[in-house]
Amino acid sequence: MHRRGFISLVGLGVISACVPGTSKSSDKNTKAKSSSPGTISEHKFPPLPFAYNALEPYIDARTVEIHYDKHHRGYFKKFSAAIKGTELEKMPMYKIFANVSAYSETVKNYGGGYYNHMLYWDNLSPKGGEPCAKLLSKIVKYFDSMVQFKAEFNKAAKTLFGSGWAWLIMTDNKELKIVTSTNQDNPLMDFAEVKGVPLLTIDVWEHSYYLRYQNRRADYINNFWNIVNWNTVNERFLGAKEGTWKG
Ligand code: MN
Repeated sequence: MHRRGFISLVGLGVISACVPGTSKSSDKNTKAKSSSPGTISEHKFPPLPFAYNALEPYIDARTVEIHYDKHHRGYFKKFSAAIKGTELEKMPMYKIFANVSAYSETVKNYGGGYYNHMLYWDNLSPKGGEPCAKLLSKIVKYFDSMVQFKAEFNKAAKTLFGSGWAWLIMTDNKELKIVTSTNQDNPLMDFAEVKGVPLLTIDVWEHSYYLRYQNRRADYINNFWNIVNWNTVNERFLGAKEGTWKG
């Protein structure tokens, strides 16, 4: 979308203004965590913000159940065991990641698995939504259009070799960038080539899609856009701009 068209759409009220804390989601968990999930200093396994079948037909109930209750819970349990009795028990995840090279592989892998999946569930919703005006404007600035942004994000997610994640991040310079990470790494980790605060993420491990899509990762990624919780992404974006959302 061109800038002029974008501005007139805002004027017409087609695109919503960016106002913090006005998430339309009726789910309290989603709202509470989308404001600052990464700043929690006591690590808990969070409730899934929707029912297992809520993302049908794009992600099937069985996949969500196994992914959340087995994979995600498994990462959390191993992370919890690894940090038990250490200073990390009270440290927010973004701070752990900022110095993650100093800790064990277990902390990196299972801490990453625990955290990345929280972000993933929170940026999914059957209700979808749209980027708010300021975020859309920023997306247009860095990617030319929403269509082009999605195309670049899709390409990153589709071409990532093996297991990992694609991300939209805001860098320290407040630029938007699309990056990928392998395994359970993420762009908050001290060794990340391009670091930034996560705004949106997609899990492209096969366990995210294999039951329904088998080897068709591209179909899963294309369908992802039907269930992006833009209210969460909008709040992360506003928080990242103001420095209240550190991931
Ligand atoms: Mn996963």
